[in-house]
Amino acid sequence: MENHSSKSDMREGVEQKELEARLQAVLDHVGSACQKVGRSPDEVTLVAISKKHPAQCIEMFAKAGQRAFGESYVQEALEKQEVLEHLTPGVQWHFVGGLQSNKAKLVAGKFSLIHSVDSIKLAQKISDKALAFKQKQPILLQVNIAGEEQKSGAETSNALSIAKAMLTLEGVELRGLMILPPYCENAEDARPYFKKLRELKEALEEDLRISLPHLSMGMSHDYVQAVEEGATLIRVGTALFGPRPY
Ligand SMILES: *Cc1c(COP(=O)(O)O)cnc(C)c1O
Repeated sequence: MENHSSKSDMREGVEQKELEARLQAVLDHVGSACQKVGRSPDEVTLVAISKKHPAQCIEMFAKAGQRAFGESYVQEALEKQEVLEHLTPGVQWHFVGGLQSNKAKLVAGKFSLIHSVDSIKLAQKISDKALAFKQKQPILLQVNIAGEEQKSGAETSNALSIAKAMLTLEGVELRGLMILPPYCENAEDARPYFKKLRELKEALEEDLRISLPHLSMGMSHDYVQAVEEGATLIRVGTALFGPRPY
């Protein structure tokens, strides 16, 4: 007779190996991109984007040594945090998805970093809630650097005034910039957007006399280009977890 439990253990063993291989492949690519431009791989944090994938897969990646996970949907993210509570404090949660200001109170204080803050109003609401927890919530300003219509992200021309306003909010800490550039068939075509974001960061640092340590840019198909252009946080989903089951 077939032994079902050992059979499924076996399959899980293979999957774990497969996930470990994918993780290593991404880290290797990051390593060679860093080497090419003279950066240290320590400057780049891989944020595994686990949206739409089950908590069990996150657990497998955590077992493989992955520490930072990113989610895009508030409810899903909070549910997974609860299910995976035993993984904390070893695991770091990031929020990267579009955020309406009525959801701000749900995410404040629950994530190491919120990447997708694109308005003063949203930052204000996050700040208020974080202060109620006596916390300072680290955030990034998401910029619509390509000026795409109907895309989230602050307009580039407003980035300075928004960043300035964010600095006055007691409950948030502005840590850098984030972009979600238009999808480019050829990843090289995304490079100019990454470069622009880096230049914008440098301009803000100079104008506001602050240091912005983070550039969140690069996804599965273009993280190599992003790392070469200075990304400190890359948001990689599909290359690790496989296609999302929509
Ligand atoms: C889903 C998502 C990602 C990951 O995309 P992949 O192409 O699967 O790597 C990165 N950033 C944001 C904001 C996302 O929503």
